[in-house]
Amino acid sequence: MPITEKDGKFYPDPSFSARAHVKSVEEYREIYRRSLEDPEGFWSEVARELFWYKPPEKILDYNFDTGAGEVFHRWFDGGRTNVCYNAIDRHLGTATRNRAAIIWQGEPDGDSKVLTYQMLHREVCRFANVLKKKGVRRGDRVSLFLPMIWHLPVAMLACARIGAIHSVVFGGFSAEALASRVKETESRVLVTIDHSIRNGRRFELKSIADEALAQCPLVRHVIVVKRTKDPCPWTNGRDTLWDDEMNAPDIGNDCPCEEMEAEDPLFILYTSGSTGKPKGQVHTTGGYMVYTYLTTKWIFDLQPETLYWCNADIGWVTGHSYIVYGPLVNGTTSFLYEGTPLYPRPDRPWELVERYRINVVYTAPTAIRALMRQGDDWPAKWDLSSLRLLGTVGEPINPEAWMWYYRNVGRLSCPIVDTWWQTETGGICISPLPGAWPTKPGSATFPFPGIVPRVADPGIDDPARRGLPMPANATGHLCIERPWPGLSRTIFGDHDRWVSTYFSQYPGMYFTGDGCFVDGEGYHFLQGRVDDVINVSGHRVSTAEVESALVLHEAVAEAAAAGMPHDLKGQGIYVFVTLKIGYEPSEALKKQLSDHVRKEIGAIASPDKLQFAPGLPKTSSGKIMRRILRKIAENKVDELGDVSTLEDAEVIKTLVSGKEKM
Ligand code: ATP
Ligand code: MG
Repeated sequence: MPITEKDGKFYPDPSFSARAHVKSVEEYREIYRRSLEDPEGFWSEVARELFWYKPPEKILDYNFDTGAGEVFHRWFDGGRTNVCYNAIDRHLGTATRNRAAIIWQGEPDGDSKVLTYQMLHREVCRFANVLKKKGVRRGDRVSLFLPMIWHLPVAMLACARIGAIHSVVFGGFSAEALASRVKETESRVLVTIDHSIRNGRRFELKSIADEALAQCPLVRHVIVVKRTKDPCPWTNGRDTLWDDEMNAPDIGNDCPCEEMEAEDPLFILYTSGSTGKPKGQVHTTGGYMVYTYLTTKWIFDLQPETLYWCNADIGWVTGHSYIVYGPLVNGTTSFLYEGTPLYPRPDRPWELVERYRINVVYTAPTAIRALMRQGDDWPAKWDLSSLRLLGTVGEPINPEAWMWYYRNVGRLSCPIVDTWWQTETGGICISPLPGAWPTKPGSATFPFPGIVPRVADPGIDDPARRGLPMPANATGHLCIERPWPGLSRTIFGDHDRWVSTYFSQYPGMYFTGDGCFVDGEGYHFLQGRVDDVINVSGHRVSTAEVESALVLHEAVAEAAAAGMPHDLKGQGIYVFVTLKIGYEPSEALKKQLSDHVRKEIGAIASPDKLQFAPGLPKTSSGKIMRRILRKIAENKVDELGDVSTLEDAEVIKTLVSGKEKM
């Protein structure tokens, strides 16, 4: 199904559109119009596709205006449901019963497991009974410190089944980061693993958990999955094995679902921490379920035969919404991979696509850039003809990386959905519907039904214009004017922080913290965080723009830009550049890269300082932590702030010493 390219736009093949859930721009416009004119009618119809013990009475109630009382929004009030029921039990009376719910592939090739919906039901019920035996009750928090193994979705769904609130902590975190999350959520039960396996190495998660638990006296029970045969530290009376618990004679195969109120919390999840202290977002039962259900179905265009692979980590919201809840509530098959893209070789993802005949791949720009850096030969070796659709999330995708993905992975035949959203938003808010919209590289295109974005004027030039929509092609602050079911309800334990972070800047609107512009045709282009904008002699230059220009250069694998103090310009541009394999740093290349940016964007964006860096500081979810680069650029390395979610702290040392040598 080739894609037609015209005027810089990529049109889906008519045969793709003919089968898609939303088939044309006209159809999208009609649905979108309806979602705004009658949001309650629109969302209640979607909700009716799912199972409710008691149907909702009031679809929406809200106030987003800090001047008009408490800021809140509530969805599907009066309704009672259970997300686990919808993700599993709902399918058991249908042909989906025998479909694979989860196909898990371990990093070592020999390790794999398939769970049909029926099999998943049994595992989840049994684990729910284990949790109950440990005293977990409706409303209690349970922390899950696990890597990408199938036990993690089982544990999440078991919590949802009995109304417990899960808090998944990314398996790459330190003891400190784990301890603060376990303490804050007051969990009494922790589920973890002996060792996790990543890039052929073992990580002693149980030791990290023990170190964290030394600070968490509330935790009485630790359930440990055994991934390896090696011993791990053990505390008798507190620690038990997953398998022993599951096989105990008093654990039954059935566990009834709790009838949850629509607004009861489903889980707590902390944001990536790119910009500051992570915020524990609280997502609820009804709204989150309905929103992830519909976004997954339409954006990934799920079909009865779809094998869908989202390679995010379940420790991040992408994994919650688009590995676990969205796909399973839809009854689709979710492929779960334990390892990372470059190990054991940089064609691991493509090998898996060929082997399993995967239809949808959803990943992050950071992974695409890492694969791109290794060269085109790796994907070329494999039969990728099963692919129908590609997706990206997490950061603005540079047009260069978009094109590489489109050519070398999609083979000019797969629509790409560039999906913009946040931990807070619960699900995707801006994205193409792949059968409808022609795409533009680097644009997340159009809002999902029910989402009303506004690129608000920050009012810098004219304070009277603050909050008003920006004209076409001018970058402003992305806000969302109305509530939608997936938006978080609060920050756990700190509602004031939720209100002040998201609702105090632009009265009546949700403030995303991201910069954005809309082009003359209505396409949205995300520009990175607003606090990453660099002000050069009064001109606002977006970090994303500078980085995209740099990545266009054949030698550059990845780039990050940050502001630095500058005597004349106010702020200057400091860039960090990682080179592609086969290129060496040199003064000549530096000059070439500066000229290249000048040519692509203009003299105003030409870097004042350029540092070659073997690696960039990233969050464990793969995002560049520009606030750290900013501190390095500003010479304030003793003020780095919270670095608990940093993937590799060594990178900072390398950058600082690299800077000193310059
Ligand atoms: P914190 O809020 O703790 O600083 P974070 O914002 O990185 O961390 P997430 O909720 O995981 O935590 O990430 C959401 C952010 O990721 C968005 O606000 C945006 O900056 C970026 N993002 C996500 N998807 C896209 C996309 N498709 N295009 C551009 N940016 C994106
Ligand atoms: Mg954020």
